[in-house]
Amino acid sequence: MKAYRGRIAPTPTGLLHLGHAQTFWIAQHRARQAGGKLVYRTEDLDPQRCKAEFADAAQDDLKWLGIEWDEGPDRGGPFAPYIQSQRFDRYRSILGQLKSAGLAYPCRCSRKDVREAASAPHEKGDEPLYPGTCRPPLGQAAAFDIESAPRVNWRFRVPDGESVAFEDGRFGSQSFLAGYDFGDFILWRHDDVPSYQLAVVTDDHDMGITEVVRGEDLLKCTARQLLIYRALGLEAPAFYHCPLVTDPDGQRLAKRHNSLSLQAMRNAGATAKSLRAKVSELVESG
Ligand code: GLU
Repeated sequence: MKAYRGRIAPTPTGLLHLGHAQTFWIAQHRARQAGGKLVYRTEDLDPQRCKAEFADAAQDDLKWLGIEWDEGPDRGGPFAPYIQSQRFDRYRSILGQLKSAGLAYPCRCSRKDVREAASAPHEKGDEPLYPGTCRPPLGQAAAFDIESAPRVNWRFRVPDGESVAFEDGRFGSQSFLAGYDFGDFILWRHDDVPSYQLAVVTDDHDMGITEVVRGEDLLKCTARQLLIYRALGLEAPAFYHCPLVTDPDGQRLAKRHNSLSLQAMRNAGATAKSLRAKVSELVESG
């Protein structure tokens, strides 16, 4: 058995809330229970939406809450840098491997094109199913002259009709149908930003992560990511998804719920101890 390596991977687009605290608490607990290591990774791929002040606030809030990590942007480690915006060269080489394997193709469609062409409304918050407009026939490189359209997205060709199954540590057997539950997804954006799917697989593999603990909202992303692991011939980690925390109206917490951010609660006088008690309560009731 490989020594356990877990990770926490916030995206600095806003302040962390109780949902993050719960997920990261569980991640820390599972790493400790296994006598393993916990890695902290800043997932700041999108230069438009990510802010250094949120990256700093996230580390600060989590330290205050009592979460500790062994490797990360503030303490270094054998797999540094632990900041995605500093790892683009590595992601580019992984994209190259997927292109060589014939599993990545260029796409000129805008988000609006995809939305308008999608046949059915998709789950809230999930991307619409890509209708395949730019997908070349198998074995062919591109459906258009790529020299004439340098700013393209790159998409992953999913095996239509194949079910991608995995055993989740919390939610049990999961299965999603490629081409139906999700379509050809973006690997690299036209504005030269790698996608979350590509970056997270690259990093979880490169950093030797053995179990990924994250929110339930990413269950379907796990299926997409398993296809990337397979395409690259890499062993996938185990997965443990945590139930989402909802607000008093039953809506899942989002970064826009500023009043429920850890910082707002801290400013309103909550102590780290009281918040830890709240998080434990959530973990037990989930
Ligand atoms: N960075 C993602 C987020 O904050 C989490 C990704 C993951 O854990 O795989 O939502």
